[in-house]
Amino acid sequence: MTVRAPSPVYRTRVCALTLLASLSAACARGGGDSTDALAAHRFRTSGIEAHVRFLASDLLEGREAGTRGYDLAAQYVAAQFQMLGLRPAGDEGTYLQRVPLQAHWLVEERAGMTVRPDGGPPNRLVFGQDFIVGSSPTREAARVAARAVFAGFGIDAPVFQHNDYEGLDVRGAVVVVLAGYPSRFPSEEGAHYGSRGVKARAAAERGAIGTIMVYTDQFEVRRPWTRATANLDAMSMTWIGADGRPHDETPSLQVNALMSPAAAAVLFEGAPRSYADVRAEAVEGAPRGFPLAVSVDLAQASWSELRTSANVVAALPGSDPALRDEYVVLLGHLDHLGIGEAVNGDRIYNGAIDNAAGIAAMLEAARVLANAEERPRRSILFLAVTAEEKGLLGSDYFSRRPTVSLDRLVAAVNLDMPVLLYEFTDVIAFGSEHSTLGQAAEAAAKRAGLTLTPDPMPEQAIFTRSDHYRFVERGVPSIFLATGWNTQVAEGAGGQAFTGFLQGPYHRPQDDVGQPIDFAAGAKFAWVNALILTQIANADQPPRWNEGDFFGELFARRP
Ligand SMILES: [Zn+2]
Repeated sequence: MTVRAPSPVYRTRVCALTLLASLSAACARGGGDSTDALAAHRFRTSGIEAHVRFLASDLLEGREAGTRGYDLAAQYVAAQFQMLGLRPAGDEGTYLQRVPLQAHWLVEERAGMTVRPDGGPPNRLVFGQDFIVGSSPTREAARVAARAVFAGFGIDAPVFQHNDYEGLDVRGAVVVVLAGYPSRFPSEEGAHYGSRGVKARAAAERGAIGTIMVYTDQFEVRRPWTRATANLDAMSMTWIGADGRPHDETPSLQVNALMSPAAAAVLFEGAPRSYADVRAEAVEGAPRGFPLAVSVDLAQASWSELRTSANVVAALPGSDPALRDEYVVLLGHLDHLGIGEAVNGDRIYNGAIDNAAGIAAMLEAARVLANAEERPRRSILFLAVTAEEKGLLGSDYFSRRPTVSLDRLVAAVNLDMPVLLYEFTDVIAFGSEHSTLGQAAEAAAKRAGLTLTPDPMPEQAIFTRSDHYRFVERGVPSIFLATGWNTQVAEGAGGQAFTGFLQGPYHRPQDDVGQPIDFAAGAKFAWVNALILTQIANADQPPRWNEGDFFGELFARRP
């Protein structure tokens, strides 16, 4: 005990308390033994600070995917990997995996929507006021004119014995669906079925040629119409496949629209039930679908531009000849929002917390692991991905075209937006209830003298909303840690700092190093993630999904 140097990682209060209470061996190992390769003091506060200050500097101009600022950040991470002696694991012996991207925008003047009631005069709707349409990466222009069919939430979920398409013929039709999912679905499963992508696939598989989404009460609270129309000239992005074509999961859906809550009633004119009726039923229940008494004319036009960006990838080879062909992935997104609308005179969206902090934790964990005398048994893959802010694109690209064989990826641990604005004493592990990774997180947290607390915001379905989810979709058990809310300084102070960040600097230029960033908390965060990583990498068995787990079953790896 006496050899323990004052830890630069975090003030020793937590360990001291734990020791007094239980003489916890876990804390002693993690915090103090200077021979321990993963002792707390090896994770440097200065390392976290240096990485965050560089990556979040104005010089990098917000690191938007496809810009020079991002490329500089990628070169920085590649240089760090090289300095640590990690093996390049990108394209052709480099640290970079090139990700071709297509940026696309809507030509607003050419967006159109007309609703024609059977036997009545047509209603021409106003873009931006009554409806909006999405731009397309693959079609410069498209126009559909077809009958409309209301399909409830537009969800086919066999596990919940729920199929909105039962008995409906939507071939050649425009499908009208409610946003979100039935209230009886659990939030993470609901987030999966309620996502636009999954709904679009359900509609396309049944032969629909366009979709219109309409609001529910819940959706209006979560995403007010004013927010949907705030950035009509915003760029969308998708990746370009080996065939040179932009990725489009549902090319048969030619136009996809969102209708304002005030205008949507027109779609239900002459139908057996009104928009108000189905919307009221959707609060607690799930209205059944029916053919509408209107046809709809929808048009969109888009323009696009090619961009290139890169994921940065490096490997630390495992020490066990029997296990070293298996990889545990530690990933985080390197991109942010770039230069945009000024807020308080600042136009650079530096993304210090989102996600320079996560990349800093990855680099610091990589440094400690690479310098440890004993390497983990399995190999570790460090992956800094691009275009997360454009829809998890870099991670999607990597998970579909991994630079090591997909069935060798045994787990993914994600670092996204650790809110390093307070001294945390607990961690939240999103995804811990789905696989044996929950036990790894539990053991690592315990060793770090931290408690693992349950998800304080299950309604947000965070598990489905960051890069690791692309690995989940390929069947890889994944976990994602966040700083907990229950500091011992003041109960709930962490929660206040956390929600204060989300309501304030998050996705604004003010997410910069002007915030009171606790870099020591960053070192502690790197530490606990490195502990999880080694826990997984050294276990005799690879992680597996829990028996009968929803995500494990849904995305089971096909041989
Ligand atoms: Zn973000």
